Amino acid sequence: MTSIDERPLPSLLPEYCKGCGRCLAACTKDCISVGTEIHPVTGLVPVVIDLTNCNRCGLCFDACPEPFGLQPADGQSSCALMDPALLGGKRPFDAPTPEPMPDSMLDLPARAPLVVKGTYASAVGAVLAGCRHVYGYPITPSTEGAELMAKVLPALDGVFVQAVSEVATVNIMYGAGGAGKRCMTFTSSPGFSLMLEGISYMIGAEVPAVFVNIMRGGPGLGNIAPAQADIKLACRGLGHGNTHAIVLAPATPQEMLDCTMLAFELAFEYRNPVVVLGDGYLGQMTGKVLLPDRMVVPGIPEWAVAGDRSHRGNLICSIELSEAELERHDQELDEKYARMIAKEQRADLHHCDDADVVLVACNTPAQLAKGAVRELRAAGLRVGLFRPITVWPFPIDALCEVLPDAGHLVVVEASEGQLEDEMRLALSHADVHAPPISHVRRQGGILPSQEEIVEHVQGLRGVR
Ligand code: SF4
Ligand code: SF4
Repeated sequence: MTSIDERPLPSLLPEYCKGCGRCLAACTKDCISVGTEIHPVTGLVPVVIDLTNCNRCGLCFDACPEPFGLQPADGQSSCALMDPALLGGKRPFDAPTPEPMPDSMLDLPARAPLVVKGTYASAVGAVLAGCRHVYGYPITPSTEGAELMAKVLPALDGVFVQAVSEVATVNIMYGAGGAGKRCMTFTSSPGFSLMLEGISYMIGAEVPAVFVNIMRGGPGLGNIAPAQADIKLACRGLGHGNTHAIVLAPATPQEMLDCTMLAFELAFEYRNPVVVLGDGYLGQMTGKVLLPDRMVVPGIPEWAVAGDRSHRGNLICSIELSEAELERHDQELDEKYARMIAKEQRADLHHCDDADVVLVACNTPAQLAKGAVRELRAAGLRVGLFRPITVWPFPIDALCEVLPDAGHLVVVEASEGQLEDEMRLALSHADVHAPPISHVRRQGGILPSQEEIVEHVQGLRGVR
């Protein structure tokens, strides 16, 4: 048995102490007190130790969460894992301070198109947009995107971490985005639901990141078939409070690449998360994908947080206890959202110039609607397709331009009316008179078919 006198006294390595105070609470001899001096290397305030009354009980070692913060003075750690040599050595506190650096572009050689599924196209787009930090939890039908990233990122000096859950994923993204890194995740509907609290924090703290959500049938775990059941979540439900993010809705594997690249650009332009909403069919659908002629070499934004004293002013947080300050922050967010609404509406118009019936659809249902337009035009009916590429902000300005000649709006979607609700809200805010609105909807992982759309349009009263 070890006598009391043989037990080691505690020793503090101030550069590893974050001043959390757990050792203060553990010590019954009042040997440890709150520090008053900022440590010149870490910018934190380590505790102060006076061992006059120390009885060598060792409780403070156990209380300290830092591997090398408070340890036995004889250097004998009670746990082999506490040996810095086993953990890759001490953290490099003397690493150079990262300086802000603008993004740059790199020309790419011409090459043949890829033929890949939508999730792969999105992953390739992310890499070309400078993303080297991907976190996620596998969930069908989005997993292949993360799987590809897990294979390629180590070769690109990047990082892929399979987190323990979606909640962990979004919080890792909060940290990586706060450090100015281009980070993303691939997820699907139930996983996206779990991320909402973290997304709210990121919006509040103005942290950029990209969320690729390959939607599947709900509610609950639902099934793994394609759906558009998260439009409402992405457009109206990104956590509590004053939260919005640009929501992109690609319709082809090519657009999965293009929209993912665009998402990173917008996320950093506005310092805000961006959501890429695909559906399960699009995630798995293989198609020809042209590569851009340039890729992004990411820089370091001047607002990025780094683990040193000179960056303490960049620390970010989503809590603001002063009501007046929080209202001011909310008003600044409102101004940012207003800029997004003014600048970032995107839509694709197909045969809308003379259309009496305008189909409104996004994602894979837009492809089926396009087939219906072709079939109905061949039958002599003036039908067009209005395809929102941004579901938030809804491209109301472009829709308003086609309304004067339209006699019918028909919303085609794989949900109970979530896209139609977004459109109706945008029409209401724009205070415009719309023609009669009807819909073709399926749910539960079933997409509306081309036949259903054609039949619906042919049954409209007075269609031309
Ligand atoms: S060894 Fe015990 S008495 Fe000494 S400083 Fe730590 S907790 Fe306090
Ligand atoms: S518990 Fe460790 S990190 Fe926390 S104040 Fe004490 S010595 Fe520092």
